[in-house]
Amino acid sequence: MLSIAESVKASGAGFLRGGAFKPRTSPYAFQGLRGQGLDLLLEAKKQTGLPVVTEIMSISHIDMFVDVDIIQVGARNMQNFELLKALGSLNKPILLKRGLSNTVEETLMSAEYIMSGGNERVILCERGIRTFENITRNTLDISAIPVFKKLSHLPVVVDPSHASGLNWLIEPLALASVAAGADGLIIEVHNDPAHALCDGAQSLTPAQFDSLCGKLERVKQATA
Ligand code: PEP
Ligand code: MN
Repeated sequence: MLSIAESVKASGAGFLRGGAFKPRTSPYAFQGLRGQGLDLLLEAKKQTGLPVVTEIMSISHIDMFVDVDIIQVGARNMQNFELLKALGSLNKPILLKRGLSNTVEETLMSAEYIMSGGNERVILCERGIRTFENITRNTLDISAIPVFKKLSHLPVVVDPSHASGLNWLIEPLALASVAAGADGLIIEVHNDPAHALCDGAQSLTPAQFDSLCGKLERVKQATA
């Protein structure tokens, strides 16, 4: 964790995102390191100064998230309205991921649940939607980026890793997202993707991430 945090910071990452509590399709799949995972993230924050982003799955865990800088609501919890209402009373930014089969309007209504409670610091995340296409894990909805920006004032970030599920697709999708107006990206990085406990196939190595960061900067300048 520390070595990844240090290398992505050197490449220009502004945040460290990792899942401690993981919503897995199968109950037999790796469920995350939970409290111990939070400790690792916070240790990496202490050593690198990178703010941390991590997913909450239950209202009952809110007290464990006091030192987390941005709380993520994952795609599967986008319409967990009681959770959204509880996060609406916090004084902390919330990264709200679009649900697997949710429309732009439904996503904005979920953001509204958080904001109507008084917490207006919501960041929207396009992470791909479920379609008939199955070569990719999901289908990245590029048009959602300008649509979210037209219909709201909220920042929009894109997650090309979960959108594609394939490491070789992350670069073109990340570049396209920035060209389409994304304010940020979430990119999975692992020092040894082949042995990752989760999502190794969609992870870049630190060297690949570094090379992508240089290209992103050039696309950002070209489309500014
Ligand atoms: C994640 O961000 O680790 C994750 C599980 O993504 P999503 O909620 O978009 O499926
Ligand atoms: Mn993941």
